[in-house]
Amino acid sequence: MIKQQVKTIAFLLFIVSTITNLLAQEVVKSVDSNSLLPIDQSIKKGVLPNGLTYYLKSTDITKDVASYYIIQNVGSVLENDDQQGLAHFLEHMAFNGTKNFEGKGILNTMQKHGLVFGKDINAYTSFDETVYNINNIPTTPELIDTGLLVLHDWSNYLLLTDEEIDAERGVIKEEWRTRQNGGMRILQKNIGTMFNDSKYAQRMPIGLMDIVDNFEYKALRDFYHDWYRTDLQAIAIIGDIDVNQVEKKIKALFSKIPAVNNPKERFVVNIPDNDVMLYSMAMDEEVSTSSISFGIRHPKPLKEETVASLKESLLNNMITSMLSARINELSRKPEATFLGAGIGYSDHSRSTKAFNISVSPKPNQQHAAFKSVLTEVNRAVKFGFSKAEIERIITNFTSYYENQISKKDDMSHSRIVQLIQDNYLTNVAITDIEKEFEIVKRIFSTLKSDEINVALKKLYADKNRFLTVTGVKGNNNLTKEDALNIISKVENDASIEAYTDEFGGKTLISGITIKKGAITSEEENKILGSTTFTLDNGIKVHYKYANKNANDVKLMGLSKGGTSLLKDTDLPSANLLGNVIQYSGLGDYSATDLPKVLAGKTASASVSVSNLSESVSGSSVTKDTETMLQMVYLRFVKPRFDENGFNVIMQNVENYKIRRKENVAEKMKDSMTVTLYGNNNPKRRLFNDDFIKDISFDKIKVIYNDRFSNAADFEFFIVGDIQKDALKPLLEKYIASIPTNDIKENWKNNSTPWLSGKIDKDIYLKMEDPKSSVRISYKNDYEYSLKNALIARTLGDMLDLRYTETLREEEGGTYGASTSAGLSKRPLQKASISVNFDCNPEKVETLIAIVHEEINKIAQGNIIQVDLDKTLTNYLKERKQQKDYNSYDMSLLTRFYREGYNMNDSKNFEDIINSITTKDIQNFVKTFLKDAKSYEIVFKPKV
Ligand SMILES: [Zn+2]
Repeated sequence: MIKQQVKTIAFLLFIVSTITNLLAQEVVKSVDSNSLLPIDQSIKKGVLPNGLTYYLKSTDITKDVASYYIIQNVGSVLENDDQQGLAHFLEHMAFNGTKNFEGKGILNTMQKHGLVFGKDINAYTSFDETVYNINNIPTTPELIDTGLLVLHDWSNYLLLTDEEIDAERGVIKEEWRTRQNGGMRILQKNIGTMFNDSKYAQRMPIGLMDIVDNFEYKALRDFYHDWYRTDLQAIAIIGDIDVNQVEKKIKALFSKIPAVNNPKERFVVNIPDNDVMLYSMAMDEEVSTSSISFGIRHPKPLKEETVASLKESLLNNMITSMLSARINELSRKPEATFLGAGIGYSDHSRSTKAFNISVSPKPNQQHAAFKSVLTEVNRAVKFGFSKAEIERIITNFTSYYENQISKKDDMSHSRIVQLIQDNYLTNVAITDIEKEFEIVKRIFSTLKSDEINVALKKLYADKNRFLTVTGVKGNNNLTKEDALNIISKVENDASIEAYTDEFGGKTLISGITIKKGAITSEEENKILGSTTFTLDNGIKVHYKYANKNANDVKLMGLSKGGTSLLKDTDLPSANLLGNVIQYSGLGDYSATDLPKVLAGKTASASVSVSNLSESVSGSSVTKDTETMLQMVYLRFVKPRFDENGFNVIMQNVENYKIRRKENVAEKMKDSMTVTLYGNNNPKRRLFNDDFIKDISFDKIKVIYNDRFSNAADFEFFIVGDIQKDALKPLLEKYIASIPTNDIKENWKNNSTPWLSGKIDKDIYLKMEDPKSSVRISYKNDYEYSLKNALIARTLGDMLDLRYTETLREEEGGTYGASTSAGLSKRPLQKASISVNFDCNPEKVETLIAIVHEEINKIAQGNIIQVDLDKTLTNYLKERKQQKDYNSYDMSLLTRFYREGYNMNDSKNFEDIINSITTKDIQNFVKTFLKDAKSYEIVFKPKV
């Protein structure tokens, strides 16, 4: 990966497959199971004579911009032993000099047009694929040409100069260092089992640091020439474009790229079959909790998809969803032996998928936890699923399709490119979702429960099994013999009985009498285009219709107070309040029954308590707005507190305590707290036994009732695709009916100062792989204004550009520093700057000096105008983009009514941005640094 933004390697994580995987499947014209799926005609696909594939999609989800991707059917599995890490190395080189963009030309060009490295500009390298992308480039004719020229250069024209190669070695080593932790070391030990010692096991994309340090220039150039070639490349342009016009440009520009003569065969690494279960257990000094992952590999057909394959993946998705629901239900019982478990069926390697059962046991309960989860799976294998479960899952899948269809024009660029990648790399069809849904409905109408059982038996195969354990020193760890014994016992256990489920026919508010209220006044705000309703119980609701995102409704309820009004001893309980409420269900229903009551509905309403406020936030599709408002009503009138749920949370808390014991990142967090606020600061407590002791179920109830007892102290905002006439009766029924009183609260200043105005400290920690972590921060009083806040933010982003150039690119000293600066308005008006990074322990002093030097340069007026221009251009561009989404209108209302200004008025944003000068930045830094409080904390490895 080229910068920060963590994109996971799908093959390595057992992502529980969700019904969203369905979109990746295809559709058809007839129900003939051999017919191909109906294709989405809105995505244009073509292949040039040199073998390069292109995809074009016109969408105005974000207006006047387009995103550019190159998808390469190349990855670390193609590396020879002496090339480990070169695929990933090339990814970095794609941003370090190409034929038409020398040096940092790509970054500089794009940043000048308001794009941000690591956000709009990024890349990743995996075992079998490599993707580089630049997103949201403005669609002026010149910039469309520029975007295409970058893709063109990536395809065949990286410069790969000696100097740039040498400069990047350090960056990649630091990338390796910053990702190297207990979890990564365990993965490296277990990966052989996961991939049956095939080549995958030796090809972690980051590679070997010895090779990264020492490879010869020619080795990298040869690898590029051998594999990065037109017949293994696709480009995709997605955005506000004229498809025909861009296609012409592509033909003209890309046809000139020569195909490679006598290309090497793009082989697929196959994982050998195994009859006997593969097993391994790994431990690490820094990992103190266990986990178990049991997988079963299946071949993945790479041929074109048919109705039969759609049905197969539909059944598999239904199975994993229903199994997950059962296991989730079990995990919510205090007597459960596991904290959580996941069931999934997802991609494992290019040519395999895996049915995966992953278990997080309670402390020292590996055997019982594994047995318990495996028993649930075998219960389903033996008896299948109940009629009620199947009906619910069909209802849920049906509403999933309906929602997707209603939002099909609102798909993000990243979602669209995912479909394109799956199509290019593994032949997954990009279906016309409406036609796919027609087929799905036909499949559902003739589906027999027996077919589901057959599909599950096929998933739970007895070949190609593998089991990996994260063990803990001193625990009773699950050995291979233990695991095989448990599997055999469970599979032959005659006492397993069918799952019973009689839930049905209930609704969220059945049995609750609601006394409807009334809207007493309705006031238009012509400037915002919104309406404010005053209800007869005193509640105010601000509403604005918005359909930039179709079929989407959001609600916010905000109230002042938060934890600032609580006693210090109540803070640990307040900390867990959100989790306990989530595990408690709502109204008359437990957390496990609630999803059953809500089958087919897409609506939620959650609560949270933060430092200075408490809030309710709701979300729904248009047709389920009523359900969302019912949930909001119940959050105030009939909240549910479930002691079982609380006990389950407390077991998770205990486990978290154990998990953080040896974890280096957690030790750093605690050391920071102690260094800045002291050992026993009642407002900044460590997460330890005393903290846990102070968490109480009764206190959580009291705090909740205290914070949410008066809805009139909340101000409500509703924005989305719901018409006023449809909303009004719902407000009268569910919001005007909430009992209220006249008490209005405010927050209190509960800010906690650092122990001293200047803290400078080195902290030594024991660690397996040595790294240093630097934490630098400044803080000072500063008057709040919109302009000052924007100046502070600008400073942070300009420093980020400086540090990328110096700490990362020039020094090769860190993978990246995270820098931010800002101005707070409450509880106190203060400005702050902070810079955090991981690095090679030997380079700490040099790098810290650079951090200060760059800040001092700005204070002295030595400011690079281009950095300021890049930053401000980015703000203007992002603001324009935000306006294409409903969420902007929500901010518009909340800022107007809570903060007192109109975001749409250019004097509150655009005019300020256009007025900010280097002098403003210099003055800010000078004023700010005078008598500023600061800390510089450096973590170093203990030898
Ligand atoms: Zn990288």
